[in-house]
Amino acid sequence: AGEVRFDHVRFGYDPDREILHDVSFTVPPGRTLAIVGPSGAGKSTIARTLFRFYDIQGGRILIDGQDIAQVTQSSLRASIGIVPQDMVLFNDTVGYNIGYGRAGATQAEIEAAARAASIHDFIMRLPQGYDTRVGERGLKLSGGEKQRVAIARTLLKDPPVLVLDEATSALDSRTEMEIQDVLRNIARKRTTLIVAHRLSTVVDADEIIVLDQGRIIERGRHADLVRAD
Ligand code: ADP
Ligand code: ADP
Repeated sequence: AGEVRFDHVRFGYDPDREILHDVSFTVPPGRTLAIVGPSGAGKSTIARTLFRFYDIQGGRILIDGQDIAQVTQSSLRASIGIVPQDMVLFNDTVGYNIGYGRAGATQAEIEAAARAASIHDFIMRLPQGYDTRVGERGLKLSGGEKQRVAIARTLLKDPPVLVLDEATSALDSRTEMEIQDVLRNIARKRTTLIVAHRLSTVVDADEIIVLDQGRIIERGRHADLVRAD
């Protein structure tokens, strides 16, 4: 499960100004699609239309063959997890922040869920531990640590489709590499769409589409696109 298909999608926030022009792609279940392109190209807009923050004006978006316009918001939210670019932490422990949205969220429950979602190693590598209060000090968690919390929170829901929206763009290169490594492992079992600034961060994607001004101008694997550069 988890096939994602954009079928001739057209969308504008303002109906007079179309942002996505006839965007089509298919991500088979369990595969990774990377969407790259310059700022303003429409990458995040693709993610938002998939999550149905907005309704499209033309074409269809299908998950496992079902038009997302026909499914309820709650079932859509159960099938897609988004790791947002910036995440707001609650004034509580790291464990609470990870478990938010899941009943209980004691350390034992989080660990059991993490094991079920195959992210136990990832959780265990959180530098702050479960009992650290986020509080005033937590606001000083590094970008990488916050990103880990955000990823863990989303992965605990174990959604068949994962969307990473510029997940690592603000990080230093060491943290970025660590997280890429983790994602490479956890992404394997689910359909993943990665919105990325740079080709270098999506070397392993099964397919890359290059978006420019709301149009797909190139598609292929990393090696093909680098050769064409
Ligand atoms: P990217 O993620 O590739 O940087 P976006 O999808 O954020 O690009 O933006 C694509 C275009 O849509 C840009 O021209 C941007 O100004 C416009 N845009 C983004 N969000 C909104 C919004 N909420 N309302 C109106 N226009 C928007
Ligand atoms: P929850 O199921 O935890 O209540 P939501 O269903 O509200 O969370 O959102 C699901 C995911 O989408 C969360 O990771 C949340 O941070 C993210 N999200 C919600 N609204 C937005 C938004 N406007 N832009 C980007 N990400 C969002």
